[in-house]
Amino acid sequence: MAVHRAGWVVVDPWTVIPGGFVRVEAGRVIETGVWSPTRNEAAMDHGPGALMPALINAHTHLELSALAGRLGPFGGFLEWVREVIRQRDAFTTKEMLRAARRAVGQMIDTGSVAVGEVSTLGLTRQLLAGSGLAGVWWREFLGADIPSDLDGTAPTGNGLCFSLAGHGPHSTHPGLLVRLKQRTEGQGRPFAIHLAESAEETQFITTGQGRWADFLAERGIGFDDWGLPAAGPVAWARAWGLLDERTLVVHLLGTGPDDWDLLRQRDVKVCLCPRSNQRLHGRLPDWPGMLDAGLSPALGTDSLASAESLSLWDEMRFSALSFSTIDPSFVLAATTLYAARALGIEDDCGSLRPGRRAALLSAPVSTADPSRVIESLVHGDLGGPINWAAGRPGGKED
Ligand SMILES: [Zn+2]
Repeated sequence: MAVHRAGWVVVDPWTVIPGGFVRVEAGRVIETGVWSPTRNEAAMDHGPGALMPALINAHTHLELSALAGRLGPFGGFLEWVREVIRQRDAFTTKEMLRAARRAVGQMIDTGSVAVGEVSTLGLTRQLLAGSGLAGVWWREFLGADIPSDLDGTAPTGNGLCFSLAGHGPHSTHPGLLVRLKQRTEGQGRPFAIHLAESAEETQFITTGQGRWADFLAERGIGFDDWGLPAAGPVAWARAWGLLDERTLVVHLLGTGPDDWDLLRQRDVKVCLCPRSNQRLHGRLPDWPGMLDAGLSPALGTDSLASAESLSLWDEMRFSALSFSTIDPSFVLAATTLYAARALGIEDDCGSLRPGRRAALLSAPVSTADPSRVIESLVHGDLGGPINWAAGRPGGKED
């Protein structure tokens, strides 16, 4: 058993205990509360800063890590897609894995305990399984062929779940998406899909024409039976039966109240990647609108092919500055509580409530004002680096 104490204990984004403690037994939080000096027990004192739950990156593509710093800026999304495919094909598997391994190390160094990893080539499964990170590893499919072996799943262990994902409505035959969704449904596992990421995708879904339609035709991919046109990507996904509480939809650029109502009614999970969207598309999702509509968006960094880092501190700082009207607690929730819900691991990670894994970060916030603790965290207004206080994935403590 161990007791950790600090100036602030952030149990969740809406519960900050001044002068608090966290009691840990067998790697799990068993109690939090206000520390009293009269307690007759030893405690690890982490100083005047904050103890908080480790972070969760709800959307990455680690096998694109080798492309870090090599792409963009481009004139548009299509050019970016072409360049990703071209550059990715120029790397060997070994090179891609080496870069992915480095990226995993950076994620853990910057305080991530769990990840929603999407793998198109299937390269990162062993890497993640051995990393100590919790979350979901999705094998992603695109195109029209239904693989003979859809058993991308495997027994879950150490808080990491293996499942299946579809790339998106503009790149994946709906028949394949339906099969993938049904397969994950049968196993009670989460399904993931990119939805409403680009103007090209939305134009394709709403008209069946445009630059993306030309791009598919150029690659010999037909789409006569894709159910086009539809009102939009969200409506299209609903029509194909892809949306329920075990589906995580990523991006949602250019969506509106009708889409959000539909997603909320079905308790669909949502992940946003603001830095990636800004870089690739020059626009941001309507996060405040989604919150008003009752959604609980998580944050992901997306890959190093589109974001400059896999640090959620960078993602939160960018988000807090870009969405200055959002209460900072929602920004922190997007990398903790809501991200855990998005990945279906809220009983394991995402807060310091009793029973959760004791993955604790020590963050040197210097404010004396309880109402400013969360704001300081999401703005990265810190007096020094973040450290792991307990539960670092892979077992190495700072
Ligand atoms: Zn993605």
